[in-house]
Amino acid sequence: MSIEKLNPFLAPTYENFPKGRTVSLVILRTTQSETIFRTEGSGEPMCSEFVQAGIENTEVIPRLVMTKRKQVATERRKGREFLRQYNLLYNAPKGNTICSLNTNAPCEMCIDCFLYGFAAGGEGAQKSRIWTEDAFSILPSTELIGDRTINALYENGTMRDETGKASTALNTSEYIKPGVHFLDVVTLKDVTADELRYVVGNILLTTRYGAVSSRVGRMDNEILGVFGGFGELPSSLELVQQVFDSLNNGENMTLEHPLNKSFINVVKSIINNWQNKRGISVQLNEAELTNLVNDIDENWSIDKQEGFLTRLNQTYESYRQIPTEKDTKKNKK
Ligand SMILES: [Zn+2]
Repeated sequence: MSIEKLNPFLAPTYENFPKGRTVSLVILRTTQSETIFRTEGSGEPMCSEFVQAGIENTEVIPRLVMTKRKQVATERRKGREFLRQYNLLYNAPKGNTICSLNTNAPCEMCIDCFLYGFAAGGEGAQKSRIWTEDAFSILPSTELIGDRTINALYENGTMRDETGKASTALNTSEYIKPGVHFLDVVTLKDVTADELRYVVGNILLTTRYGAVSSRVGRMDNEILGVFGGFGELPSSLELVQQVFDSLNNGENMTLEHPLNKSFINVVKSIINNWQNKRGISVQLNEAELTNLVNDIDENWSIDKQEGFLTRLNQTYESYRQIPTEKDTKKNKK
């Protein structure tokens, strides 16, 4: 267990008031298949932003963006699958519907509501304690997007129908290539050790993002750094820019897709200097990071996950307000 080193930055128990403790994660997200992150709906171009290539290198380039929403909503859904399985989602105070995302009726009582927050139609709100930002690709999007024209197959499995008529092209479709790296920074505020395990578990267990099907959207997450302190880490944009500068100055490293795996060492050497930044107090070393991930895997293992989630669920008990039939508003603060 390497969580002890983070103890000064973890809350001993859940409480309503913030105390400025932060645990921050640096995450490498890598596409493992073709992936699609569109702005809204289909037909829109792939999510990207024009930003400075590096901090020293002031050239402006388009970078692929994995938005906050695309990360968090997907990861929350993963955790909620388990809450549903173990009956740890509650009925929403309004109506008798079970807590669900993307409706206006959060239960305000489950692990997900307590951690990721909710806004309940004016009646009360819980701020999210999981702060995220848009993740950026290291390389320019022009290197990372593939393009293909998809032809429809006829039912006989060929491109021609019975009469020999050729299939017409359905559409041209853009996709993010496999092996694309995004760097991301996630900040957890005033979380307990079990809440940390829950959030990191959600991140590590989520393997599909963006437009999801059985064939697209596969993505792997790897934790490259864990920090404790009382301030936020540099942003994910600043991190990709620093990495870009370093790779540009380095030898034998061409900035082409796919990046040589050794870029991870570059990322690590950059974040290893962050301990000197304002508000950051400790960083887990490699062995401690491995132990932390093992600890999280262990708690999420098939034999232990129910016990782990039930234990975490219990910590909110005294903060839950079960609304009575008559009065709900007065008792709520
Ligand atoms: Zn809930």
